[in-house]
Amino acid sequence: MTQLNDRFGREFHYLRLSITDACNFKCQYCLPDGYRPDGKPRFLTLDEIRRVVTAFAQVGTRKIRITGGEPTMRKDFNDVIELAANTPGVNTVATTTNGYRLAANAQRWFDLGLSQINVSLDSMDEGLFRQITGDGRQQLVLDGIEAALETGYRRVKINVVLLKDLNAQQLPQFLEYIRHRRVDIRFIELMETGLGQDYFQKHHISGQVIKQQLLSQGWTEDPRGPDDGPALNFSHPDFAGRIGLIMPYAKDFCATCNRLRVSSIGKLHLCLFTECGIELRDLLGHDDHQPELIARLHEQLRLKGATHQLHEGLTGVTQHLASIGG
Ligand code: SAM
Repeated sequence: MTQLNDRFGREFHYLRLSITDACNFKCQYCLPDGYRPDGKPRFLTLDEIRRVVTAFAQVGTRKIRITGGEPTMRKDFNDVIELAANTPGVNTVATTTNGYRLAANAQRWFDLGLSQINVSLDSMDEGLFRQITGDGRQQLVLDGIEAALETGYRRVKINVVLLKDLNAQQLPQFLEYIRHRRVDIRFIELMETGLGQDYFQKHHISGQVIKQQLLSQGWTEDPRGPDDGPALNFSHPDFAGRIGLIMPYAKDFCATCNRLRVSSIGKLHLCLFTECGIELRDLLGHDDHQPELIARLHEQLRLKGATHQLHEGLTGVTQHLASIGG
């Protein structure tokens, strides 16, 4: 096995695999008008997904996150979990979901091998949740989080996209929620996408505002572990859960990048904000192509840049994050 790495000494053990662009929510910052099929090629089949996962596992991928779009909308979502969990070398299968199927399926997915869940929940307030996501099922999502906590998942995290004048003032409600629950809430700074420029201008706010509030209330920043993701984590002795901050606009955010993405139509994205994806699908039709696929991964990784160019307003090809699994 030759580990995937790049020119900057970064090793890649983590793959975010999008299995669909479709989504049933209408989050204002992502798909405000809802998902509309755009005549693109069909999404990867289960066999193609198996070949992607197997090839990545052979070059050192240990963790697979199944994402989308809304990944749980796929009829074969259970099969995707099972195949990823049974791939030699993969020790963690995670998913990012809006949670609408979680209450009914938390146990089943766990039994199939899912070990970590991130649930998007942009507000504890029912009305604001509806306003941001375009969906009224907040209670169902909350029930799903409770079900996941009872099931024994290694980690349950809540993703909150931090939005000025909307949820950025709601830190107290989020803190109350994790006082007695072992849940990590991660505030993600709103990222500028091709279709979301006006929204970005209106609602982007730095995660530093949350950091300052936490520090003034006795929260302390946890030391970073070698395999930690991009979040800065904060703990407090009176709270069971933790708070994480994901600040893509912060200096050195990319230095710890350990993730690669494959889109739902089989393109490799070396960064969430690169100009274009690298075609893999021509090598996904048959098991015999695996050595060639692995060679292409190594070759392309040599081209990965040091950092994204979001600071210069360059959002690359990314029109919205549902297209390549944010
Ligand atoms: N449908 C799933 C969900 O709702 O979590 C998975 C896909 S969604 C694209 C993945 C994550 O990206 C979610 O937590 C979402 O809130 C976040 N996201 C989408 N667009 C974003 C943006 N412009 N800036 C920051 N985060 C964004």
